[in-house]
Amino acid sequence: MEKREFLYEGKAKKVWTTDDPSVYVVEYKNSLTAFNALKKDSIEGKGRLNNLISSVLFEHLGKKGVPTHFISRIDDLQQLVRKVTIIPIEVVVRNITTGTLCKRLGVEEGKVLPRPLVELYLKDDALGDPIITEDHALLFGWSTQEQLNKIKEITLKVNSLLSEYFLGLGIILVDFKLEFGTDTEDNLLLADEISPDTCRFWDRDTKNRLDKDRFRKDLGDVLGAYEEIWRRVSSAEAL
Ligand code: AMP
Repeated sequence: MEKREFLYEGKAKKVWTTDDPSVYVVEYKNSLTAFNALKKDSIEGKGRLNNLISSVLFEHLGKKGVPTHFISRIDDLQQLVRKVTIIPIEVVVRNITTGTLCKRLGVEEGKVLPRPLVELYLKDDALGDPIITEDHALLFGWSTQEQLNKIKEITLKVNSLLSEYFLGLGIILVDFKLEFGTDTEDNLLLADEISPDTCRFWDRDTKNRLDKDRFRKDLGDVLGAYEEIWRRVSSAEAL
Protein backbone atom coordinates (compact mmCIF):
# COMPACT_ATOMS: atom_id res chain seq x y z
CA MET A 1 0.00 0.00 0.00
CA GLU A 2 1.46 3.35 -1.02
CA LYS A 3 0.97 6.55 0.97
CA ARG A 4 -0.17 9.32 -1.35
CA GLU A 5 -1.71 12.68 -0.51
CA PHE A 6 -1.75 14.37 2.90
CA LEU A 7 -5.43 14.94 3.71
CA TYR A 8 -5.75 16.63 7.09
CA GLU A 9 -4.37 17.04 10.56
CA GLY A 10 -6.49 16.82 13.70
CA LYS A 11 -5.56 17.35 17.37
CA ALA A 12 -4.05 13.88 17.79
CA LYS A 13 -3.71 12.39 14.29
CA LYS A 14 -2.75 13.07 10.67
CA VAL A 15 -4.44 11.35 7.73
CA TRP A 16 -3.16 10.43 4.25
CA THR A 17 -4.79 8.83 1.23
CA THR A 18 -3.26 5.69 -0.33
CA ASP A 19 -3.24 4.10 -3.78
CA ASP A 20 -6.44 2.29 -2.70
CA PRO A 21 -9.30 4.87 -2.63
CA SER A 22 -11.05 3.01 0.20
CA VAL A 23 -7.98 2.96 2.50
CA TYR A 24 -6.30 5.73 4.52
CA VAL A 25 -3.09 5.94 6.56
CA VAL A 26 -3.47 7.46 10.05
CA GLU A 27 -0.44 8.75 11.94
CA TYR A 28 -0.62 9.24 15.70
CA LYS A 29 0.85 12.51 17.04
CA ASN A 30 2.54 13.27 20.33
CA SER A 31 0.31 16.29 20.99
CA LEU A 32 -2.09 16.15 23.89
CA THR A 33 -5.05 18.50 24.37
CA ALA A 34 -7.70 18.88 27.05
CA PHE A 35 -10.64 21.15 27.88
CA ASN A 36 -11.47 21.70 24.23
CA ALA A 37 -7.79 22.38 23.39
CA LEU A 38 -7.46 25.18 25.99
CA LYS A 39 -4.69 23.07 27.54
CA LYS A 40 -2.02 21.76 25.15
CA ASP A 41 1.27 19.91 25.35
CA SER A 42 3.39 17.47 23.41
CA ILE A 43 4.85 14.36 25.01
CA GLU A 44 7.56 12.44 23.16
CA GLY A 45 6.48 8.81 22.83
CA LYS A 46 2.74 9.36 23.41
CA GLY A 47 1.77 8.90 19.75
CA ARG A 48 3.58 5.57 19.58
CA LEU A 49 1.93 4.24 22.74
CA ASN A 50 -1.57 5.25 21.61
CA ASN A 51 -0.97 3.67 18.21
CA LEU A 52 0.22 0.41 19.79
CA ILE A 53 -2.59 0.30 22.38
CA SER A 54 -5.37 1.28 19.97
CA SER A 55 -4.19 -1.26 17.37
CA VAL A 56 -4.36 -4.12 19.85
CA LEU A 57 -7.78 -3.05 21.15
CA PHE A 58 -9.27 -2.68 17.67
CA GLU A 59 -7.86 -6.08 16.70
CA HIS A 60 -9.37 -7.61 19.84
CA LEU A 61 -12.77 -6.05 19.12
CA GLY A 62 -12.60 -7.12 15.46
CA LYS A 63 -11.97 -10.72 16.49
CA LYS A 64 -15.05 -10.51 18.73
CA GLY A 65 -17.23 -9.45 15.81
CA VAL A 66 -17.25 -5.65 16.20
CA PRO A 67 -17.14 -3.97 12.75
CA THR A 68 -14.21 -1.52 12.79
CA HIS A 69 -12.22 0.70 10.40
CA PHE A 70 -8.92 -0.86 11.55
CA ILE A 71 -6.97 -2.88 8.96
CA SER A 72 -3.43 -3.21 10.35
CA ARG A 73 -0.64 -1.39 12.17
CA ILE A 74 2.11 -0.28 9.78
CA ASP A 75 4.83 0.81 12.24
CA ASP A 76 5.26 2.63 15.56
CA LEU A 77 3.17 5.62 14.54
CA GLN A 78 0.95 4.59 11.65
CA GLN A 79 -2.08 2.40 10.90
CA LEU A 80 -3.98 1.43 7.77
CA VAL A 81 -7.69 2.07 8.19
CA ARG A 82 -10.79 1.86 6.02
CA LYS A 83 -11.89 5.23 4.72
CA VAL A 84 -15.05 6.32 6.54
CA THR A 85 -17.26 9.37 6.68
CA ILE A 86 -17.33 10.18 10.36
CA ILE A 87 -20.76 10.58 11.96
CA PRO A 88 -20.41 13.89 13.89
CA ILE A 89 -21.39 12.35 17.23
CA GLU A 90 -19.08 11.40 20.10
CA VAL A 91 -20.52 8.49 22.05
CA VAL A 92 -19.47 8.38 25.70
CA VAL A 93 -20.07 5.33 27.91
CA ARG A 94 -19.74 5.61 31.66
CA ASN A 95 -19.50 2.79 34.20
CA ILE A 96 -18.42 4.99 37.13
CA THR A 97 -19.34 8.64 37.71
CA THR A 98 -16.58 11.20 37.17
CA GLY A 99 -15.49 13.99 34.81
CA THR A 100 -17.98 16.26 33.11
CA LEU A 101 -20.91 14.10 34.28
CA CYS A 102 -20.24 15.11 37.89
CA LYS A 103 -19.57 18.74 36.95
CA ARG A 104 -22.72 19.02 34.84
CA LEU A 105 -25.17 17.25 37.15
CA GLY A 106 -23.57 17.72 40.57
CA VAL A 107 -23.63 13.97 41.21
CA GLU A 108 -21.13 12.27 43.51
CA GLU A 109 -17.74 11.19 42.06
CA GLY A 110 -16.73 7.53 41.91
CA LYS A 111 -20.23 5.92 42.09
CA VAL A 112 -20.56 2.62 40.25
CA LEU A 113 -23.59 3.03 37.96
CA PRO A 114 -26.23 0.24 38.08
CA ARG A 115 -25.85 -0.09 34.28
CA PRO A 116 -23.69 1.66 31.68
CA LEU A 117 -24.74 5.23 30.89
CA VAL A 118 -24.53 6.13 27.17
CA GLU A 119 -24.35 9.81 26.25
CA LEU A 120 -24.18 11.58 22.88
CA TYR A 121 -22.15 14.72 22.21
CA LEU A 122 -22.03 16.76 19.02
CA LYS A 123 -18.53 16.56 17.55
CA ASP A 124 -17.93 20.28 17.12
CA ASP A 125 -14.83 21.91 18.63
CA ALA A 126 -16.11 25.45 18.04
CA LEU A 127 -19.16 24.66 20.20
CA GLY A 128 -17.12 22.69 22.79
CA ASP A 129 -18.76 19.32 21.91
CA PRO A 130 -22.17 19.98 23.55
CA ILE A 131 -24.22 17.07 24.92
CA ILE A 132 -27.21 16.20 22.71
CA THR A 133 -30.18 13.84 22.73
CA GLU A 134 -31.12 11.26 20.10
CA ASP A 135 -33.80 13.66 18.87
CA HIS A 136 -31.18 16.36 18.15
CA ALA A 137 -29.17 13.82 16.15
CA LEU A 138 -32.25 12.77 14.15
CA LEU A 139 -33.88 16.17 13.64
CA PHE A 140 -30.69 17.88 12.49
CA GLY A 141 -29.68 14.94 10.28
CA TRP A 142 -26.46 14.00 12.11
CA SER A 143 -27.50 10.34 12.01
CA THR A 144 -30.44 8.08 11.16
CA GLN A 145 -32.49 6.09 13.69
CA GLU A 146 -31.08 2.89 12.24
CA GLN A 147 -27.51 4.16 12.75
CA LEU A 148 -28.31 5.27 16.30
CA ASN A 149 -29.75 1.85 17.14
CA LYS A 150 -26.64 0.12 15.78
CA ILE A 151 -24.31 2.63 17.46
CA LYS A 152 -25.93 1.96 20.84
CA GLU A 153 -25.81 -1.81 20.38
CA ILE A 154 -22.13 -1.79 19.28
CA THR A 155 -21.18 0.69 22.02
CA LEU A 156 -22.62 -1.53 24.77
CA LYS A 157 -20.92 -4.58 23.27
CA VAL A 158 -17.57 -2.71 23.17
CA ASN A 159 -18.10 -1.69 26.79
CA SER A 160 -18.71 -5.30 27.90
CA LEU A 161 -15.78 -6.66 25.89
CA LEU A 162 -13.31 -4.00 27.00
CA SER A 163 -14.46 -3.92 30.64
CA GLU A 164 -13.81 -7.66 30.86
CA TYR A 165 -10.51 -7.40 28.94
CA PHE A 166 -9.16 -4.64 31.18
CA LEU A 167 -10.38 -6.21 34.41
CA GLY A 168 -8.22 -9.19 33.45
CA LEU A 169 -5.28 -6.76 33.43
CA GLY A 170 -6.15 -5.29 36.84
CA ILE A 171 -7.68 -2.16 35.30
CA ILE A 172 -11.15 -0.68 35.72
CA LEU A 173 -12.60 0.81 32.55
CA VAL A 174 -14.30 3.86 34.08
CA ASP A 175 -15.55 5.57 30.90
CA PHE A 176 -14.57 6.16 27.29
CA LYS A 177 -15.49 7.87 24.04
CA LEU A 178 -16.19 6.20 20.70
CA GLU A 179 -16.65 7.52 17.19
CA PHE A 180 -18.36 5.83 14.26
CA GLY A 181 -18.29 6.26 10.50
CA THR A 182 -19.75 4.82 7.34
CA ASP A 183 -17.57 3.24 4.66
CA THR A 184 -18.01 3.56 0.89
CA GLU A 185 -20.68 0.80 1.02
CA ASP A 186 -22.53 2.55 3.87
CA ASN A 187 -21.51 -0.02 6.50
CA LEU A 188 -21.35 1.40 10.02
CA LEU A 189 -17.84 0.95 11.44
CA LEU A 190 -16.25 1.77 14.77
CA ALA A 191 -13.58 4.38 13.94
CA ASP A 192 -11.07 6.81 15.51
CA GLU A 193 -8.98 5.40 18.39
CA ILE A 194 -9.31 3.68 21.78
CA SER A 195 -6.42 4.73 24.01
CA PRO A 196 -5.59 6.44 27.31
CA ASP A 197 -6.45 9.69 25.46
CA THR A 198 -10.06 8.56 25.03
CA CYS A 199 -10.65 6.27 28.03
CA ARG A 200 -10.40 6.58 31.80
CA PHE A 201 -8.44 3.66 33.24
CA TRP A 202 -8.09 3.19 37.02
CA ASP A 203 -5.76 0.64 38.53
CA ARG A 204 -8.10 -1.87 40.23
CA ASP A 205 -6.07 -2.05 43.45
CA THR A 206 -4.53 1.40 43.91
CA LYS A 207 -7.14 3.41 41.92
CA ASN A 208 -4.18 5.19 40.31
CA ARG A 209 -5.21 7.12 37.21
CA LEU A 210 -3.61 5.55 34.10
CA ASP A 211 -4.96 7.90 31.43
CA LYS A 212 -5.26 11.48 30.17
CA ASP A 213 -6.63 12.63 33.56
CA ARG A 214 -2.95 12.73 34.62
CA PHE A 215 -2.54 15.54 32.05
CA ARG A 216 -5.94 17.20 32.65
CA LYS A 217 -5.38 17.34 36.42
CA ASP A 218 -1.57 17.84 36.44
CA LEU A 219 -1.01 14.56 38.30
CA GLY A 220 2.43 14.07 36.70
CA ASP A 221 4.07 11.16 34.85
CA VAL A 222 1.58 11.11 31.98
CA LEU A 223 3.86 8.99 29.78
CA GLY A 224 4.48 6.51 32.63
CA ALA A 225 0.72 5.87 32.87
CA TYR A 226 0.40 5.25 29.10
CA GLU A 227 3.47 2.98 29.28
CA GLU A 228 1.84 1.02 32.10
CA ILE A 229 -1.31 0.46 30.02
CA TRP A 230 0.84 -0.70 27.08
CA ARG A 231 2.91 -2.95 29.38
CA ARG A 232 -0.24 -4.73 30.61
CA VAL A 233 -1.95 -4.86 27.18
CA SER A 234 1.17 -6.23 25.48
CA SER A 235 1.75 -8.79 28.22
CA ALA A 236 -1.81 -10.06 27.67
CA GLU A 237 -1.14 -10.26 23.91
CA ALA A 238 2.06 -12.29 24.55
CA LEU A 239 0.08 -15.00 26.38
P1 AMP B 1 -15.79 13.58 30.14
O1 AMP B 1 -17.04 13.98 29.40
O2 AMP B 1 -14.69 14.62 30.00
O3 AMP B 1 -16.04 13.15 31.55
O4 AMP B 1 -15.22 12.31 29.34
C1 AMP B 1 -15.81 11.03 29.38
C2 AMP B 1 -14.90 10.04 28.69
O5 AMP B 1 -14.88 10.29 27.29
C3 AMP B 1 -13.43 10.11 29.14
O6 AMP B 1 -12.87 8.82 29.10
C4 AMP B 1 -12.77 11.00 28.11
O7 AMP B 1 -11.40 10.69 27.96
C5 AMP B 1 -13.58 10.67 26.87
N1 AMP B 1 -13.77 11.84 26.00
C6 AMP B 1 -14.77 12.75 26.04
N2 AMP B 1 -14.63 13.68 25.09
C7 AMP B 1 -13.51 13.36 24.43
C8 AMP B 1 -12.81 13.93 23.32
N3 AMP B 1 -13.24 15.03 22.70
N4 AMP B 1 -11.67 13.33 22.91
C9 AMP B 1 -11.23 12.20 23.51
N5 AMP B 1 -11.85 11.62 24.54
C10 AMP B 1 -12.97 12.18 25.02
